[in-house]
Amino acid sequence: MTETPIQLPSTIVVRDLATKLGIPVTAVSAELIKNGVMAAINQEIDFDTAAIIAEDLGKVVTLASSDEAPTVVTQSIEDYLREDPATTLVARPPVVVVAGHVDHGKTSLLDAIRETSVTTGEAGGITQKIGAYQVTKNDRLITFIDTPGHEAFTQMRTRGAKVADVAILVVAADDGVKPQTKEALRIITEAGLPFLVAITKIDKPDATADKVKKELAEESVLLEGWGGQVPVIEVSAKTKQGVEDLLEAIVLLADVESDKLRVNPDRPAVGTIIESHVDPKQGPVASALVQTGTLRVGDDIVVGQVWGKVRSLKNDHGQIIKTALPSTPVQLLGLKAAPQVGDILRVSTAEAQELKKKVKSHQLGHHLKTVVSKTLAAHKEDESDEKPEVKKLFIMLKTDTLGSAEAILESLKKIEHPEVSIEIVQRGLGIISEADVLRAEAANAAIYGFNVQVSPKADQLARSKNQPIIIKTFTVIYDLIDTITSELEALLPPQIERQELGRLNVLAIFRNEHTFQVVGGKVTDGEVALGATVDVVRNGQKVATGTISQLQQNKQNAKTVSSGSEAGLKVEGQSVVAVGDTLVASKTISSKRTLQ
Ligand code: GDP
Repeated sequence: MTETPIQLPSTIVVRDLATKLGIPVTAVSAELIKNGVMAAINQEIDFDTAAIIAEDLGKVVTLASSDEAPTVVTQSIEDYLREDPATTLVARPPVVVVAGHVDHGKTSLLDAIRETSVTTGEAGGITQKIGAYQVTKNDRLITFIDTPGHEAFTQMRTRGAKVADVAILVVAADDGVKPQTKEALRIITEAGLPFLVAITKIDKPDATADKVKKELAEESVLLEGWGGQVPVIEVSAKTKQGVEDLLEAIVLLADVESDKLRVNPDRPAVGTIIESHVDPKQGPVASALVQTGTLRVGDDIVVGQVWGKVRSLKNDHGQIIKTALPSTPVQLLGLKAAPQVGDILRVSTAEAQELKKKVKSHQLGHHLKTVVSKTLAAHKEDESDEKPEVKKLFIMLKTDTLGSAEAILESLKKIEHPEVSIEIVQRGLGIISEADVLRAEAANAAIYGFNVQVSPKADQLARSKNQPIIIKTFTVIYDLIDTITSELEALLPPQIERQELGRLNVLAIFRNEHTFQVVGGKVTDGEVALGATVDVVRNGQKVATGTISQLQQNKQNAKTVSSGSEAGLKVEGQSVVAVGDTLVASKTISSKRTLQ
């Protein structure tokens, strides 16, 4: 399946990243840890890091350039719901989310509930999953969001989308209250969601429902029968024990909330995207939960920056339908691009057309560059813009935390020089991987790691190249900065200086050849040295330049002859030296330059 790049902001909270990628936050955390990044789930990571993690998890992401994209003002679901007068409102089914600790049986419970309805309603059995489904209990419809875990909640909180009316807090009878149980509870409470508790896996021999209830009481969950109001149902997804009771309890809870579950079905639909992908044959496929109004085939729709016309609608049984009422999950075709989960969908011909115009003129496509091509393109642009004398040191930086990356970049920023500069082609967190090596190679960059490891494969790959990719790792920021400084200094052309060594007064010419002369004289100043350059000076004027290719003192070869001594020397050059000339010996010293 080809995927549309998922747009991410420049920084994102780990939990939100998980939601955007459609991957459990635990898996994202695990991937971060695997990459050496110790970010808590409520901590922000930068886009580069997110992109690396996403890529490792098989997702394609792109940096959302919200500043350039045409903006469509999106209200929250509540704003749309408030638009309708009381007289137009009728009851809609409740929408339920399931939350709780990993492995406590959320998926199994959702499947068990779904199967209950399938066996009574359908012959086929297996139906297609579209992100939510509906079941009937006592002639009442209940909609379940089919994404267990925190994702549904997170969506609900971060994107102004409010999807669920009721939550089921799942706690395994054999495991009790765990960290994610507490977190789910906190989110439910913060969202002000009515909820009930499902004690799952009650069929297990080591199930201790009372212990779970006691633990919940310690978390201030006041359960029914324990002095409180929160319904508690003991269930087994395996034996289906308690599933019908659970549905019954949901209907009762929805009745308590019935005032809030009233919307106007006769208005243009508004809903929330609950799933989205691109199918190679069908194009963008999105699942939406209709929250108010009725969605119809042929409707012009707008979702975030994406517009379209509903080409077809399918229900949670995979059946083609023409209309979808409030609280109905549908899968729809006809959007021009895959929208983001959590985005609000609404029917509006005027807005769809306006967006169509804007998007066309804006060539939205150019926002959809992938990370690497973007980095490389930026890199190339810089190359062509740069003045020829500025030499660049291309660096890929990988660090253990964002904090150290910031500290390093802050220090690097201070290094300024007209002839050399540093170009960070990519930065990221965690272990230096094979992908990093390939990117570094493409960008002609060296990899600098701080408090991170190099994977053995990456190391091997880097060494295997004809021009090995340089990888350097550090545990002290100062050392890293120092090394980069030295690398920059190495790029500076050396400083060439001429140093006068001494002078010799020419007293005799022993040989005159086309390309050299052998002369004798007395050193009057300093020294003359083998290999030195000599200026031939006559009447205060330089008339030629040569090189001392042989030097003798008392007929013995010498390296240097000092002031006061006589010397015999072979001077290579134009053979113009005459008696009485002064030979000024000098050597050039090339010295390394520093950035100071
Ligand atoms: P999730 O991570 O909360 O979605 O948990 P799953 O639904 O994937 O269940 C985790 C494990 O517990 C799986 O191996 C299930 O087969 C098992 N499991 C779930 N519900 C039950 C149940 O009611 N009874 C028993 N015996 N096992 C269950």
